[in-house]
Amino acid sequence: MIEVKNITKKYGSFTALDNVSFEIKEGEIMGLLGPNGAGKSTTMNIITGYIEPTSGEILINGINMLKKPKKAKREIGYMPEGVPLYYDLTPKEFVTYMAGIKKVDKKVLKEKVEKILSETGLADVKNKLIKNLSRGYKQRVSMAGALVGEPKILILDEPTVGLDPKQIAEIRSLIKKLGKDHTVILSSHILSEVSQICDKVIIINKGKLIAIDTPDNLEDKVANDNSVYVTVEDVDNKIEQMKEKIEDIKEIKLIKENDDGTKKYLISANGKTDLRKSIFAEFAKENITIFEMKKPDATLEDAFMQLIGEGGDK
Ligand code: ADP
Ligand code: MG
Repeated sequence: MIEVKNITKKYGSFTALDNVSFEIKEGEIMGLLGPNGAGKSTTMNIITGYIEPTSGEILINGINMLKKPKKAKREIGYMPEGVPLYYDLTPKEFVTYMAGIKKVDKKVLKEKVEKILSETGLADVKNKLIKNLSRGYKQRVSMAGALVGEPKILILDEPTVGLDPKQIAEIRSLIKKLGKDHTVILSSHILSEVSQICDKVIIINKGKLIAIDTPDNLEDKVANDNSVYVTVEDVDNKIEQMKEKIEDIKEIKLIKENDDGTKKYLISANGKTDLRKSIFAEFAKENITIFEMKKPDATLEDAFMQLIGEGGDK
């Protein structure tokens, strides 16, 4: 079990993580989801003991990462962002080297290395130089490096970034397979990706934890949502009153003020009402000109908007 308790990370005056807490149970595949800069890598670097938080605590199977880093790290295999840098080694050499670092017993070393190479689908390329392998295979080499100490917990930072669809499918099924006997945390900025692999998803944005739930529950929230984005010119400042005029409106939130004087709002509905017709009719009556009206897509950004119900960067 991984317990992350009130983690804050500051870089100078910039808060990269703001009082983040969550738990991951043994055997779970947890997705850490968020756009670029959300704080995913920072979270993973802290959980793995690679960097220290400004405040907060991490317990890895009850072992305090800050107090007993060596012991806690033994439980974890970490695949950092990007592909491995050991370009002039072969996968077999790289995994053997990692096994040395992880202090794998010399008597079983050869056998363990072969086992991991075969588990990660590297048997056919194990004697080629890493620099000559495709990106997908490089990613597998990195994964093999994380697996070598037989850790119970695997932490994979954006394992599918830069891969083609076929490679993504292969890495996904590998992660699923590994998930059967490991606790896995993987990060991604793609919603559909984590929903396909993970039992649970943590959504973070701008260093804050926004949601933690199963992919099904999160997708339901997006799919059943009847919010609409409207961009309007509202010279008489009447939009706030529209909540009273259209009874199905639950909330009107300002998302963005544009340079041309128009404003973008997210309007959410009570229940399952499609608001578009009444917005169109009633706004016209009040001299609010609609420049654009759009239902949210089931994209990560829109999911964020709906989950947090406040302005992002759009
Ligand atoms: P993600 O992995 O979700 O893309 P990161 O955890 O890498 O996000 O970064 C979170 C935020 O912290 C970003 O705004 C990033 O610029 C900032 N950041 C990360 N590392 C450092 C650092 N060493 N010094 C200063 N700022 C950093
Ligand atoms: Mg990152």
